[in-house]
Amino acid sequence: MNTKPAILGGPKVREMAFPPRITMGSQELEEVSKVINSEVLSAFLGGPGKFFKGGKYVKMFEDKWAEMYGFKHAISVNSWTNGLIVGIGAVGIQPGDEVICSPYTMSASATCAFFYGGIPVFADIDPHTYCLDPKSIEEKITPRTKAIVVVHLFGGCADMDPILELAQKHNIKVIEDAAQSPGVKYKGRPVGAIGDIGGFSLNFHKHIHTGEGGMLVTNDDNLAMRARLIRNHGENSIEAYGIKNISNVIGANHRLTELQAAVGIHQLDKLESYLDIRKRLALHLADRLDTLKGIDAKQNIENGDHAFYVFPVKYDAQEVGLSRSLFLKAIHTEFPKPDGFEGTVLTEGYVAPLYYNEVYQQQIAIGDKGFPFTTNPDVTYDYSKGICPVTEDLHHNTFLGIPVVREPLTIQDMDEIFEAFKKVIENAEAIRNAFPKDNLSVEVFNPLKAANESNIT
Ligand SMILES: *Cc1c(COP(=O)(O)O)cnc(C)c1O
Repeated sequence: MNTKPAILGGPKVREMAFPPRITMGSQELEEVSKVINSEVLSAFLGGPGKFFKGGKYVKMFEDKWAEMYGFKHAISVNSWTNGLIVGIGAVGIQPGDEVICSPYTMSASATCAFFYGGIPVFADIDPHTYCLDPKSIEEKITPRTKAIVVVHLFGGCADMDPILELAQKHNIKVIEDAAQSPGVKYKGRPVGAIGDIGGFSLNFHKHIHTGEGGMLVTNDDNLAMRARLIRNHGENSIEAYGIKNISNVIGANHRLTELQAAVGIHQLDKLESYLDIRKRLALHLADRLDTLKGIDAKQNIENGDHAFYVFPVKYDAQEVGLSRSLFLKAIHTEFPKPDGFEGTVLTEGYVAPLYYNEVYQQQIAIGDKGFPFTTNPDVTYDYSKGICPVTEDLHHNTFLGIPVVREPLTIQDMDEIFEAFKKVIENAEAIRNAFPKDNLSVEVFNPLKAANESNIT
């Protein structure tokens, strides 16, 4: 094999783009045709009665999901963003309540709190699980803390036992954002309803999908009822269903259509096989990458499975001798330009810590007077850089994500990714010499130093 890196004019490791996922099949098509022929594309009615919980396909989809993973209730929603909002409402978040969130996740895992006047308070993550660190959670708990949104990031799972212990001790609700970890078990318990309420995303990018959509799960009858009310204009059903606690029950329309449910039923049949494929590819890749200098590909699988939504890697720029961004560029050059957004072999940093966003920096979320940040008169909230150093270090320095550890890729494809990493690392010095402006010391971001230099406080 020619070992000259492509970035220095050598041949690429691979000439053909990675194939896209093919998730839809004849069963989805047939089922959707039936719905279309029935004319009933959604059967929900915004009041009490037979159609309060939706139509035939919505119920079938929910029952199937609940049964497959042993959840007492599965409640479909038209996006998981809305599912999170429903969950926040259902557990009873009120204006001024604090909700502990992870800063390293999709924005909705934290913004959901705002919709009921809750205030996201960011705790740091554990660099091994990429999920909330119980020690950091404990430091952020105040008498105003009412919920924790635990995100099971990248397909792994958070260390739930110590989190549940804290929640119990301080009477805090636990909401699980398992959007990236469907079907994953933590110590044998399916994620989603280990805490009080949680769920999954069914958007196009997730393991299985219905275009847009989500599935909320809980084992608590009261939370399930409240969630169903919020999903579907709950105010109209208060009387008929004898609802005593009407707080937060005014509803919206968070309903999934029959069309989406018809697709979802057949997608669910495929989930376990997708998970198996991802796991097989990932464990192979982890073994190989972990032999390379400067690459830590160890995976968080001691407490449970991993769905490998993204295959996470930690990169040590000093050890490799290339800044992370130059490394990324060199790897990208080993592969053809991605044919569509699904083909990107490697990404850096994941999202910026959520509190960098202007919503937190300016503390303007609902209206323009600072609500809900100003709700507790003697309390000020700190979203300055430096508050979650583990997250900041991953974002700025060490995190690399491989999003193509998925069907229909093969072990040979994983070996090509390994070969590209190996080639670039072995030729780091030559690459560095060819790009003399690659300044490692600029790349290595020091969160504490940045906090001191930051003019946004
Ligand atoms: C995808 C995702 C969401 C949002 O789900 P949608 O269905 O797109 O609204 C929330 N949290 C996490 C961690 C996600 O990955």
